[in-house]
Amino acid sequence: MISHSATALECLLSRQLSQISSTVTDDTTWSTIATQFCNGTRQSPIDIVSSNLQPDSSLTGFNLTGFNSSALTKITNTGKTGKEMRLAGGGLPGEYVGVQVHLHWGNKASSPGSEHSVDGRRYPMELHIVNTKSIYNGNLSVAANDSEGLAALGFFIEATSETDKPDSWKTLTSYLPKIIEKSNFADISPNITVYDLISAVNISRYYRYLGSLTTPNCNEAVVWTVFKEPIKVSQNLIDLFSTTVHINDSSSQLIINNYRHVQALNSRVVKTQPSSNTGTRCLISLLSLGVMLIHASQTLGSL
Ligand SMILES: [Zn+2]
Repeated sequence: MISHSATALECLLSRQLSQISSTVTDDTTWSTIATQFCNGTRQSPIDIVSSNLQPDSSLTGFNLTGFNSSALTKITNTGKTGKEMRLAGGGLPGEYVGVQVHLHWGNKASSPGSEHSVDGRRYPMELHIVNTKSIYNGNLSVAANDSEGLAALGFFIEATSETDKPDSWKTLTSYLPKIIEKSNFADISPNITVYDLISAVNISRYYRYLGSLTTPNCNEAVVWTVFKEPIKVSQNLIDLFSTTVHINDSSSQLIINNYRHVQALNSRVVKTQPSSNTGTRCLISLLSLGVMLIHASQTLGSL
């Protein structure tokens, strides 16, 4: 069952609880738990090999609209929020509606936690914006039955040595101490937006491949876009995720390493813009993050 509530951090908590309740602590066992998809041939994440990219001139800039009318106002396990944001262009087969934002992380500087990697390099964190085809109106369970029903935007997060930068991430992480336990929530005021979180990234340069959800049931329904340019965030702020938020109450273990390991590419190709195309920085009316955040159920999983 899918409930239209929640936030990024709820998604992560759900994911952890799903694993714990199944006594699963290692994603290598998922293929035996959810055999329908998790051992399939178009699974995510993958290692992106820069020498094997296929140029595709249809991978143009994105049109992101309707993102500018609402803001991320709450981090909660039960709250409802947001207005629609819509995504088109970028070589996508149609228009998509944003439904969820969440993060993956590792365990402080020694253990990077992005899901995708590039030439074997894993970044400290990865931010995912999950969208469904607009005809499904944010219904993840229906969209998951369409081989291109979901469009996921992945942003790598790279660590910097300065302290408490950028301001948007300082604000976001300042609320983590208020949601250390599973059902905690906090209002975010003043609001921050998705644009605040990713604004410095050139979204016209990206990798594209067909993949899956990265938790059971690992549905192979996702058109993945992974941006080349990382979001730069101070290491001290990155460390707060793996040292603050617990999977249950404050005596339970911290949420760390909440990523899936890379999967085989098999016969797939990863596409990108032709190298002669330097790309233009997209002017996006974009992204006052108002995301309709959605609770990723244990049966469907999340990205
Ligand atoms: Zn994800």
